[in-house]
Amino acid sequence: MKNIYFFLVLLLILSACNSPKTTSNKQNDTPVNEFAIIIHGGAGTILKENMTPEKETAYKAKLEEAIKTGYEILKNGGSSGDAVVKTIQVMEESSLFNAGKGAVFTHEETNELDASFMDGKTLNAGAVAGVKDIKSPIEAARTVMTNSDHVMLSGVGASQFAKEQGLEIVDPSYFYTENRFKSLQRIKDKEKTTLDHDDKEAAFYDTDIKNSKFGTVGCVALDKEGNISAGTSTGGMTNKRWGRIGDSPIIGSGTYANNKTCGVSSTGWGEYFIRSQVAYDISAQMEYQQKSLKEATKDVIQNKLTKLGGTGGVVTLDKNGNMSFEFNTAGMYRASMNDKGDLVIKIYND
Ligand code: ASP
Repeated sequence: MKNIYFFLVLLLILSACNSPKTTSNKQNDTPVNEFAIIIHGGAGTILKENMTPEKETAYKAKLEEAIKTGYEILKNGGSSGDAVVKTIQVMEESSLFNAGKGAVFTHEETNELDASFMDGKTLNAGAVAGVKDIKSPIEAARTVMTNSDHVMLSGVGASQFAKEQGLEIVDPSYFYTENRFKSLQRIKDKEKTTLDHDDKEAAFYDTDIKNSKFGTVGCVALDKEGNISAGTSTGGMTNKRWGRIGDSPIIGSGTYANNKTCGVSSTGWGEYFIRSQVAYDISAQMEYQQKSLKEATKDVIQNKLTKLGGTGGVVTLDKNGNMSFEFNTAGMYRASMNDKGDLVIKIYND
């Protein structure tokens, strides 16, 4: 009898040791989506009163086409990496966005493109910066990750690598669009006067030309295997000089992905995103402070970035398929789709 009693007590102690620990972890660990995808097409002073119905329809249609491209890949069991690259390519090929075909102009009247890609399973990453003739910078970024020993390639070296990899090279005139060229001329005119922070912000977002400037593009996806990938592609900032590189090709600022936490793609005034390490900070807050995706995303954009004087936004997606849009500008072109195929497309602050 004594033995049975002793055995029961032992059993109780053992089962208590094995039971799941209760922690103060605020992350919701219940999967909400088996797979999911979220995208942005740039943030800025995007106001409804400056938008024509035709333009609004065109942006929404392109966002829908792009996100459905990635959604189909994920639904059919494809990888989040393929979904991110193919989705971004749809936007790179459209002149509506400041990426690929619609890239903005540098001070020297050239187009210099940046992009980055990160794989949340391996924490491997690739990026290209200041490239002038690679048709799809996002594809080049992912190829740097898969086919080289490096993470970031720039300028002519990056083009050389892309050529050797058989990626499509175009004449730099492929990136010319009249709208972006006019935008550069307007900013150069403004430059003749001394600009303070707000003037610079207005020039950066080119508020005079009524919504036509925005459009860095980005995508984060979670696939059925539980792998998160993130990517960002941009023409950078109108009137940039001296080989300026923004946040978009910088892992931890413009792009980040970690299967343990989340994936992030940023858009906005790049210098502030670099200084704030926006994308990594969101992941770090989830990892070290056990914040939920929403809490971490909100803190980094609405608190930390805003206090520094930075403007812009992010799209984020966590390992359980939760998704979040966050920006401190008037608008951000954005869309998401969950595993049920529910589509959300938004532009303004609503
Ligand atoms: N973040 C990009 C850059 O600074 C621009 C943008 O997102 O609009 O290059």
